[in-house]
Amino acid sequence: MKLLISLLLLCPLALFAQNSKPQAFIYANLINGKENKVYPNAIVFVKAGKIERIGKAGDDTSGYELIDCEGYYLLPGLIDAHSHLDNLASAKRALETGVTTVRTAGVAAFQDVALMELSKSGRIAGPDVVPAGVYVSPNLEETILADVRLGSLINGVRTDEELKLLVNVNIDRGAKVIKTRGTERAGRPETDPREQVYTEQQIRVIVQEAAKRNVPVMIHAHGDEGARAAVLAGAKSIEHGTFLSDETLQLMKERETFLVPTFITLEDLTQPGGDYVGPVLELRGKFMMPQAEKVFKKAHALGVKIATGADNGYTANTTSRISLECAHFVRMGMSPYEAVQSATVRSAELLGLSTTGQIEKGFDADFILVPGNPLDEIRFLQDVLLVVSNGRIALKRIPFGKK
Ligand SMILES: [Zn+2]
Repeated sequence: MKLLISLLLLCPLALFAQNSKPQAFIYANLINGKENKVYPNAIVFVKAGKIERIGKAGDDTSGYELIDCEGYYLLPGLIDAHSHLDNLASAKRALETGVTTVRTAGVAAFQDVALMELSKSGRIAGPDVVPAGVYVSPNLEETILADVRLGSLINGVRTDEELKLLVNVNIDRGAKVIKTRGTERAGRPETDPREQVYTEQQIRVIVQEAAKRNVPVMIHAHGDEGARAAVLAGAKSIEHGTFLSDETLQLMKERETFLVPTFITLEDLTQPGGDYVGPVLELRGKFMMPQAEKVFKKAHALGVKIATGADNGYTANTTSRISLECAHFVRMGMSPYEAVQSATVRSAELLGLSTTGQIEKGFDADFILVPGNPLDEIRFLQDVLLVVSNGRIALKRIPFGKK
């Protein structure tokens, strides 16, 4: 027991246990996520990891620990709907960029399920995780080691039985969403992201098998054929969608399929540093960015639901961020309010989380504080001053110069 306690003290993620005292976040300029307005001088009362109620200056705060928000802007924590988060240090980095919820999109060995459990039980300070487990793709390579039952898939995952087995192993192990592949990758020089991988029929087998256990399916697809197959087969979201045609976008609008553009990753391809480097990828990124921008603008104009994903593992070198994705959304024509909604309310809807993404009574106490009004200037999301995840303070940079 003593050893466990000292280990917890050593681990930077093992923050304080659940606060015994409820907290009142006072002097906040509140943006609740569902209205394009600011409530000045608001108080957010937090108890047992939940938002107990919203108050205003003058309300009785006795019995509460007071946290002075100094008139800065308090809004729902950001949601990363496409992440490859798979370790504790990265979970901490994600939180420190204001991301309080992630949906993973394929990690090697169910580390995302473990992160979900650790976060839920309060052993680590979030983010909350909606895990996808093992990526359903034709060649699992090393990821067959994730579960002994996957050994039979060493030669590929293509038949109905193979696809169903992988879906069920994922769900047995705790996956809350299934990630599969409509097209090849963009981030490897030797693959063409337009090339279709699974057929509509194969994707339908995956979607139907997952649906038996109430689990939705997210599909990686850059090329249009693979994406359309995914939409027709019943995917919940298209990830990337770089080459989507007008017809496929129209279909997405009709079927309420979400688009998760992960635009920030394309920018990473074009720049030195970050997760992707090399001349082939740089050229590819420069080709794909304007293409993705065209698709984004059409999707937005049509009213396709758009969610935010950073598509990274929050490594020490990662430069892509949800806040930067939101800045791209605004640059490409969204209002700042729509971009904030993409990263909060809209992404929560995609993830099927009914008490996440808003600052409302009864919702999870997941919120951030930024120094200016993001509804006027979206770049303020990049400068997070305070992060609260399930009622626990994961980052606090105010008041400046004091501890
Ligand atoms: Zn990805």
